[in-house]
Amino acid sequence: MTEELEKTLIYEAKHVLEKLGEEEKKELEKLSKEYIEFLSEVKTERECVEYFTTILEKKGFKENQLERGYFVYRNKFLACWKLGRNPLTEGLRIIVSHIDTPRLDLKLHPLFEEINLAFLKTHYYGGIKKYHWVAKPLALHGTVVKKGGEVVKIVIGENKEDPVFTVCDLLPHLAKKIQGEKKLTEAIPGEKLNLLFGGIPLKNEVENKEVKEKIKLNVLKILNESYGLKEEDFVLGELQVVPAGSAREVGIDRAFIGGYGQDDRICAFTSFKAFLEVEDPEYTNLVLFMDREEIGSEGNTSAKSRIFEKMVYFLMKELKLSATPDNFFEVMSKTKAISADVTAGIDPNYLEVHDKLNDAKMGCGVAVSRYTGHGGKYMASEAHVEFLAWLLENWDKEGVVYQVVSMGKVDEGGGGTVSKHFASYGLDIVDAGPPLLSMHSPFEISHKADLYMTYKGFKVFLKI
Ligand code: MN
Ligand code: MN
Repeated sequence: MTEELEKTLIYEAKHVLEKLGEEEKKELEKLSKEYIEFLSEVKTERECVEYFTTILEKKGFKENQLERGYFVYRNKFLACWKLGRNPLTEGLRIIVSHIDTPRLDLKLHPLFEEINLAFLKTHYYGGIKKYHWVAKPLALHGTVVKKGGEVVKIVIGENKEDPVFTVCDLLPHLAKKIQGEKKLTEAIPGEKLNLLFGGIPLKNEVENKEVKEKIKLNVLKILNESYGLKEEDFVLGELQVVPAGSAREVGIDRAFIGGYGQDDRICAFTSFKAFLEVEDPEYTNLVLFMDREEIGSEGNTSAKSRIFEKMVYFLMKELKLSATPDNFFEVMSKTKAISADVTAGIDPNYLEVHDKLNDAKMGCGVAVSRYTGHGGKYMASEAHVEFLAWLLENWDKEGVVYQVVSMGKVDEGGGGTVSKHFASYGLDIVDAGPPLLSMHSPFEISHKADLYMTYKGFKVFLKI
């Protein structure tokens, strides 16, 4: 009797892998492998847009085509859609993730030489812990647009033969005062995150004493020979410093995936894959990949821009639905959306910041955050329970393992996602995605089981 009551009345988060059958376990491993490849290759928002559009084209999607189409804005925002069986006035099913990640951007005039070493100055983008970025191999990814429009793409540090770069750290022997006695946030100042870039002086055919910075000049010579660049071209570069190398399996049982940029490319990957696999959806599927989330969704490729409205107006016009604000709101009021983003998994080493009862547990499935924000629920949208009940009921039916969670103790801090910007249109939206350990670090950790359940959850959502 007591046992029966315990079983029916008490909630307990279950580990996904205690619920999966052998077939699904195989599927999970296959998905993980594919994801590791994606994560190893795609490290910037531009690369993500390019990677996805190449696949879309292969699958018959065309830019601005009504039935199965996609739209790219400024090479950093992507939307793709599939028309549903129901009319647009019945609403859309939207999944929105973000494809920008915390990193070091090169400064506008980055190159300098000092005591026989050439460096590139950086300015970090997004919420990083600066000490994460020193003393590790780093790669350079990006694009330079030269005057006249020539586009130069750069990826250095990913192939085995490539050189890598690094930000040097101070040896412990001399770091006692300058680092050891400082607060963690101040021990490594942003201005010292300079990338070690070269160390060989330019060899002069004729002895030329006029060249003062021979190492800098040699570095520029290499850049010029390889990419046709001059020093002034740096101001036209979007060059990002990211951790070099591939994502990996982690753990003796290979439970986890470790790699850079899982916030939020794990959701970009799973929502994209789910989107491709859902054929003939009931409601029109619109899957969005936003930029600039990590710095507060500012800029014309972000969730705060009007780019999403443009997408919906495009579909309305193509479907001969008069594109009035009134009709737009009508469509939005029937629309259901998932803000696909990661959350913090409980790290048992830092239980003091977590609420064990409410925070996400690694391996327990896709984590649904009914609200985000920080103490007092400031700056966040909160999903309505009517919408949440609908979603969870459908996930139950289809065997999606989920956990409804919050992030951290009430007064410890918090974070936001794009959901509040989308909620302002009147649609229903909730945050969902896998929990991560070491979030915003160069080596973020996800659980394969959560990757799988996120993908499965997104697929069910797009179908219904
Ligand atoms: Mn995120
Ligand atoms: Mn983030």
